[in-house]
Amino acid sequence: MIAETCPGAVVAAWPTVPNRHPVWGPYHSIYAGHAVDSDVRHKGSSGGAVTALAVHALDSGLVDRVVHVTANPKDPAGNLVCCSTNVADVIEGAGSRYVSSSPLADIERVLADGGSAAFIGKPCDVSALRRLALIDPRVDAHIPLMMAFFCAGIPSRRAVERVLAALDVAPEDLATFRYRGNGWPGKATATTCDGRVAQMTYEESWGRYLSKDVQFRCKICPDAVGGVADIACADAWYGGETGYPTFDELDGRSLIVSRTARGEQVLDAAVAGKAVLIEPLAITEIDLMQPSQAQRKYAVRARMAALSVTMQPRPRIQGLSVEAASQRAGLKDQARNFLGTIRRILLRRR
Ligand SMILES: Cc1cc2nc3c(=O)[nH]c(=O)nc-3n(C[C@H](O)[C@H](O)[C@H](O)COP(=O)(O)OP(=O)(O)OC[C@H]3O[C@@H](n4cnc5c(N)ncnc54)[C@H](O)[C@@H]3O)c2cc1C
Ligand code: SF4
Repeated sequence: MIAETCPGAVVAAWPTVPNRHPVWGPYHSIYAGHAVDSDVRHKGSSGGAVTALAVHALDSGLVDRVVHVTANPKDPAGNLVCCSTNVADVIEGAGSRYVSSSPLADIERVLADGGSAAFIGKPCDVSALRRLALIDPRVDAHIPLMMAFFCAGIPSRRAVERVLAALDVAPEDLATFRYRGNGWPGKATATTCDGRVAQMTYEESWGRYLSKDVQFRCKICPDAVGGVADIACADAWYGGETGYPTFDELDGRSLIVSRTARGEQVLDAAVAGKAVLIEPLAITEIDLMQPSQAQRKYAVRARMAALSVTMQPRPRIQGLSVEAASQRAGLKDQARNFLGTIRRILLRRR
């Protein structure tokens, strides 16, 4: 939600719940799990948990539609917002799409239509929706479930074009494009109009191209773990010997964090309804699964300070444990992030 970079824009604070971790956010309970439906598990980015929970919310009557994004048929590498009333369309949207999305684009219509909708978006989308709820009572009345995923940042369109170029696919020849999923992590898969299929591993697409060119706003993201969502999901990666996860192809596994009483109820109902399978996970396990997320949160305070001293706009942040997280970084790392950000600002490389 780019609007949050505007001077004075405010990022929603984490809710007050009994458990709160400076990096991993507020939580009721933490699990590793996956969709019981093997098709959903396979299509999903990780274990298909987000999709399975949304499908269960629809099937059980908690909601009558799901607001989510899917591939844009007119621009297969891009995104489109959908308001789906049937299970097949929700499943069609499974899988991460590492390019800009605007799931709030039609929110006024969703709220005006009434009924009840589940919302799936990036953490900053859910943050903006929580802020809207403070001034518009229709949000809480009509959106009983908000889900987010851990988010390492939105890559630029340029980065996506580099992936396509490496696959030797011209953007105008693209018929369909998946960033990953269809396995865990699954490959970036381009299908051309004449039926050619070109693939690239997740390690290469994300590691070599997409992660190298994310928006500056994402580098100062104070809540990239969806701390204000009812439920946040992520990759429950297996840690490797290097301290960083291995990206070997395996059966999908999602990290599932229920953050609010509503999230807990929805998860319990989905487990009872045999939509998702879960096993409890200690919070310390997330450190091994998501080292990059932790490093970025440690750096937010120093990067924000660099924005302040150079008189750049910065979002207003409160109640997101940014200071507590920064204390987990050494002084040397803080200084490196502070000076590095100043350098980028001066060189206009933001
Ligand atoms: C830009 C981006 C960065 C990510 N960074 C991380 C990370 O740092 N660590 C991590 O563990 N996981 C990250 N993920 C999320 C991860 O890839 C999985 O989505 C998450 O683990 C949940 O998997 P799942 O199988 O449960 O979800 P699925 O069942 O596959 O459902 C995913 C849902 O997310 C929605 N979605 C996909 N792309 C977008 C988008 N661009 N904008 C809005 N909604 C979208 C889909 O519509 C779908 O409803 C990122 C995803 C994206 C899109
Ligand atoms: S990293 Fe933060 S600001 Fe960037 S897209 Fe993700 S949630 Fe939004």
